[in-house]
Amino acid sequence: MESSPSKIFWTTMRIADNNEPIPKKLRRLLLTAGFGELDLERKFVAIKMHFGEGGNLAYLRPNYAKVLVDLVKEAGGRPFLTDCNTLYPGRRKNALEHLDLAYEHGFSPFSTGCQILIGDGLSGSDEALVPVVGGEYIKEAKIGRAVMDADVFISLNHFKGHIETGFGGALKNIGMGCGSRAGKMEMHSATHPKVKEDVCIGCRKCARFCGSDAISYPRRKAQIDPQTCVGCGHCIAACPVDAIYSAFDEENEIVGAKIAEYAKAVLDGRPHFHVNLVIDVSPLCDCFGASDLPIVPNVGMFASSDPVALDAACVAAVNAQRPNEGSLLAERLRERREHVSDNATDAADSDRSGDEPNDHFKVVNEHSNWIAQLTHAKKIGLGNTDYELIEV
Ligand code: SF4
Ligand code: SF4
Repeated sequence: MESSPSKIFWTTMRIADNNEPIPKKLRRLLLTAGFGELDLERKFVAIKMHFGEGGNLAYLRPNYAKVLVDLVKEAGGRPFLTDCNTLYPGRRKNALEHLDLAYEHGFSPFSTGCQILIGDGLSGSDEALVPVVGGEYIKEAKIGRAVMDADVFISLNHFKGHIETGFGGALKNIGMGCGSRAGKMEMHSATHPKVKEDVCIGCRKCARFCGSDAISYPRRKAQIDPQTCVGCGHCIAACPVDAIYSAFDEENEIVGAKIAEYAKAVLDGRPHFHVNLVIDVSPLCDCFGASDLPIVPNVGMFASSDPVALDAACVAAVNAQRPNEGSLLAERLRERREHVSDNATDAADSDRSGDEPNDHFKVVNEHSNWIAQLTHAKKIGLGNTDYELIEV
């Protein structure tokens, strides 16, 4: 039986004639979209977001989180902001550095009104094993424990580009973002971690963290036995000099499908709600230590209880925009036109400026595959790709 389209509520970033501040506008959007119908009384409410990698300035401001936190508290809930540690060795690879950076980026109980809990603990190993109902790639997702301990789950997502998944929105923030280090490795990598021999100092700390006895030291350098390694990623967190890394070598289409399955594990069986802010749409995600000029103008704020339809609506909203002059998107489109023009064999070919592919995320990250997240999420029953847009 065909399901009816999911409702997506949205609003632009204009403050219009009444000068309504954006936080108030967001609050109005959320209440219109049904946020007030969530039963939050005495519930732990996880608000999943991304605090931004060091050097990145495209991440969402704490002010947006405060709107959600206030609403949760008014409804008697107990909110906390959360994210899990990264697989790569940046400034969010353990809870201490992660918290330092979140504070540096302005997230604190003073600015948001609630505490931050790093979902997978000090070193990314505090995880809950969660079955994926209908999973094709993942039978048991490894999710940050604090995320799973919450009664209600809310995602507050910065909608932008991503090198592998094309765009990063609700599904990416939920699926990849809530994975523990082992979970992220399961999504990103088809192999076991590797050791940079020239960086390894032979301290043997990694072996103490390895529960599988997979690490030996044949030349006083760590060596991982691929037959024994179970891909838990604990050695990556343990290494004091970042000599161990995970290859990001899974096919992009499969990464997208795995993200959908992890997102399903996070959301199944509890109330959830999702907000995408389509602003500062950088070509790459907030894990990058630099944020490029946005590829399109700020579009607006979108909210729904269906994360799949929400992402689908936001992709379409971005693709409907004209490229920002001087952005990577405008640059790539110009290169394409010049390439077409150079190869033109007749006048008709040389006049193809209107023949641009209307797929902005594919243009800026040409090897990415964004449709896989959506189609697989729909296939496993996480949500709908048909939607009805309702402007607030
Ligand atoms: S990923 Fe886990 S099992 Fe594999 S070597 Fe590292 S700690 Fe050991
Ligand atoms: S913890 Fe890092 S530096 Fe120490 S032995 Fe293992 S890989 Fe080498």
